[in-house]
This record gives sequence, structure tokens and C-alpha cells, in this order.
Amino acid sequence: MSDEASPHNQSASSEATHSAAGTASGGTLAVLPSATGQQPACADGPITAGSGIDYGLFLDCVHCGLCTSACPTYLETGNENDSPRGRIYLMRSVVDGRLDLTESVSRHLDLCLDCRSCETACPSGVQYGRLIEPFRVDMQRIKAAESGKKSSWFQRLVLYGLFPYPRRLKWALLPARLMQWTGIDRLARATGLTKLLPRQLQRMQHLLPQLRQPAAQLPEVLPAKGTRRARVALFTGCVADAMFSQTGAATARVLQANGCEVVVPRTQACCGAIHYHSGAGDPALALARQNLESLLSDDIDAIIVNVAGCGSMLKDYGHMARELAPDDTAQIEQLEQFAAKVRDISEFLSELGPVAPTGSLPLKATYHDACHLCHAQQIRSQPRELLGLIPDLELVPLAESEVCCGAAGSYNLMEPEMSDRLAARKLQHIVDTGAEAVIMGNAGCSLQIQAALRDGNHPIPVLHPVDLLDLSYRGLPLSTITGK
Ligand code: SF4
Ligand code: SF4
Repeated sequence: MSDEASPHNQSASSEATHSAAGTASGGTLAVLPSATGQQPACADGPITAGSGIDYGLFLDCVHCGLCTSACPTYLETGNENDSPRGRIYLMRSVVDGRLDLTESVSRHLDLCLDCRSCETACPSGVQYGRLIEPFRVDMQRIKAAESGKKSSWFQRLVLYGLFPYPRRLKWALLPARLMQWTGIDRLARATGLTKLLPRQLQRMQHLLPQLRQPAAQLPEVLPAKGTRRARVALFTGCVADAMFSQTGAATARVLQANGCEVVVPRTQACCGAIHYHSGAGDPALALARQNLESLLSDDIDAIIVNVAGCGSMLKDYGHMARELAPDDTAQIEQLEQFAAKVRDISEFLSELGPVAPTGSLPLKATYHDACHLCHAQQIRSQPRELLGLIPDLELVPLAESEVCCGAAGSYNLMEPEMSDRLAARKLQHIVDTGAEAVIMGNAGCSLQIQAALRDGNHPIPVLHPVDLLDLSYRGLPLSTITGK
């Protein structure tokens, strides 16, 4: 870490007279003096975006620019302001009071996917997520204070009111299932009827995959097959449970086949990522506490998750508690204990030592690295190694496999243009592999890539690693899932 110490020291303000670190084809960032010096206020007093961030985290960035070529938005726009280095500089300038949080500054920060690819690329160990996430929370609070509204209708009704509740979501999906079953969905699209929906609902409709028959609800306890090697709690999630319940059931079966007793507590809740990443800290913390009560106990060896975005959030509970309730040391300790037990399914099986599957699956497939697995959790080799155990499955490399597909939580609903550009980029790379299936460990990526494949008229199935492991353990063909 650099030895610069004060957020408002002289060297920092003289640096402000220069343009942003480095230049790029998209031009430089002009650092403007504060125009008004006024800050929006909320009930707790005036808010300065980023003022609660440990300033040393900004100073870790030495402006080398090695992260820029790993940044999806920079790859697309070529604008330094849309790069990690530029964004760090923007945030720091706002914190220093050298730059107002103008619409233009907010725009560059909003466009960030929070994919954390820059963290992987950075040789200085910059913890970019620790900067952008709290900064955005403050941006939301400022926007809410300025507009007098806490959140938009879409956030209230859909992101907060529907997505975190799998039962509500399952009910809400019933008309969609019926429309898909009768073909009315295709008719509505073909006749342009869907264009009558509000913009974000149109996006949701566009992203909706061909829904599989939902799996039966999992029992609360599933016994291990053979000698019990571990006792695990299965985190089932919200959107994943409503849309990909078959993958949840496959995860439970794969765990059983590996000698795990699986408990599936019914009182568990959404991981809270939707709330936390959109600035709603209190509900996110309440969901974390509910999951703590529901999933953590001394006789549980691990809490298993099969969705990269949820896993990343669950592993971050301790940090979230420290950030949102720093005085509650008991809560911080409990949530850190919780986080220490969270494992992605592929990570857990690798640690346990997987039972080799024996069923043949003759298939040429490629693997897309979900950002929240490879960048946020450093999980890359484990899913590939597990897939490598499946007889006759050939895994071919995917170019730019670690570049975000544009899903990024609710980003594909909120930033459709950039999201579509990244989806098209990903699609081209997938098609170039000649693979017959594409595999990934994140529900959000799956929705995004399925939509891109559908739009491009490429009938390539999108699968989770456990879908294939499960088939191989059970000796079933791929058509069990794809119907072909
Ligand atoms: S690679 Fe790291 S140190 Fe270099 S500019 Fe990017 S964030 Fe800063
Ligand atoms: S998180 Fe992703 S989109 Fe955001 S700056 Fe880093 S690499 Fe770019």
C-alpha cells in the first residue's frame, strides 16, 4: 500500500489539476473543481459519496493501466473513464472534493459491471469491489435524497418485491409457462405486442428462458449414498430456485452421490445481493441474519451454493456486516463464521475428492467462467477438473472466457445497451468454438447467454456443471435435459 495518508493532502489536490491517469483512445478524464460544494442530505445528514471508504484502498492503485485490457466496458468503449483505472480516479476525485458527482461521472460508474476482472488483472492487489460497491451505495442514497424517493417502481415491485422470493416468483412465472406451452409468447413477440410493456419488463420477457418442468420440492434432509463423508446445508437461492430448480435437485443428487448428507432448510432466504448491490443495506443485512439462523450450525461441514453470484455474496457476509454495522462485533463474528463455511459446489467437491462419475456423455462442450466464480472467488480449475472426469465429454477452450457476458446481476435489466454488446461478444466466441453445449456455474450468465443464443438462432444448450455430473452419475443421456 502506498504511504500517502490523508484524503485531503496537498499532493492529492495538486494531482487533481492533471487529467486522469493515462490516456486512451476514448480521451482523457477532465478533473473539474467542485462547482457548488453542496452535498445532498438524507435523514442521517449530508452524504459525500465514498467518504466511508478506507482511503488507503484508493492509494493501492498505482495507475499502471494493466487492468484496462481486462475490463469489458473499456474493451467496448475504449474510454478511459469506463476503465478500472479511470473509475478509481473518478471516485477518488469525488472523495477528495475535486470533482462533483455529476451525471456524467455517475454514468461512467453506473456502467461498471462490478465483474471484478480488474482485480484479477491488477498486480498491486487493488480491491476494486471494496471501492465501487460502497461508492454505489452512497450514489443510490444521494439519488434517493435528491428525488425524495427511496427506490424506483421497478426496484420496489420487481427487484425487491419479487426476485428475492422464490415462491412469489414461481407464481409470477405461471402465465409465462402457459404462454410458452401454448406458443402465445412467440406470437406476442412476432406481433410486437411485447413492445407495449414497460422497458424493463420487456427486458425481463426477452431474458426469460424456455422454462423446464420445475423439480419437486427437495425434502429437508437427503441421506448420503454409501458411507457418510460430510453433512452439508444446501443454499437454494431465489431466482435460481424459481427458474433452475432442476439444477438445484441435480446439485443435491451429486452431493448425495459423493457421500454427503444434505439438509435443505426451508427458512433460508435470498442471499441479499440484489439489495446490497443496489444500495439497500438494511434489508441485505436482515437476509444475511436469516440465512445465518437457517443454514449455520455446528454439525454442518459446509454451506453449498451452485450460483456464483450468490456464493460470492454469502462469502462476503462478514465484510458486509463490518461495513454496515461496524459496532455489532457479535454479528460480525457470526457472519464471518457463516462465510467461512460457504463453498461453491465445484470448490467443495474438489476439496472433498470427487467420486468419479462413470456414465458416458459424448459431447463437445465449452466452459464460460462466470465473473463471480473466477474473479470474485478465484474458482477456475475446479469445475473444469470435475467436467474432465466425465467419460467422453470433450471440453474445448473459449476465447475471452473470463470476460463478463453482460449479465452481472440486474445489470442486464438496467444497462441493456452495454449488456447486449457484451452478450454479442460472448456469443461470437461460443459459436467460434463449434461446441455443442456451453457450461457455466451461474444462473444470471445462463439467462443472458441463453437469450443471446436464442436471438442468434443457435440451438446450443446452456448447462451447469452439476447437470452433467448428475447425468453421468445416473448413467442418463443428455437428452434427459435437452429433450433432443
Ligand atoms: S492494474 Fe491495478 S494498479 Fe494498475 S491501474 Fe489498474 S487498478 Fe490501478
Ligand atoms: S469491475 Fe469489471 S467493468 Fe468494473 S471496472 Fe472492473 S473490470 Fe471494468
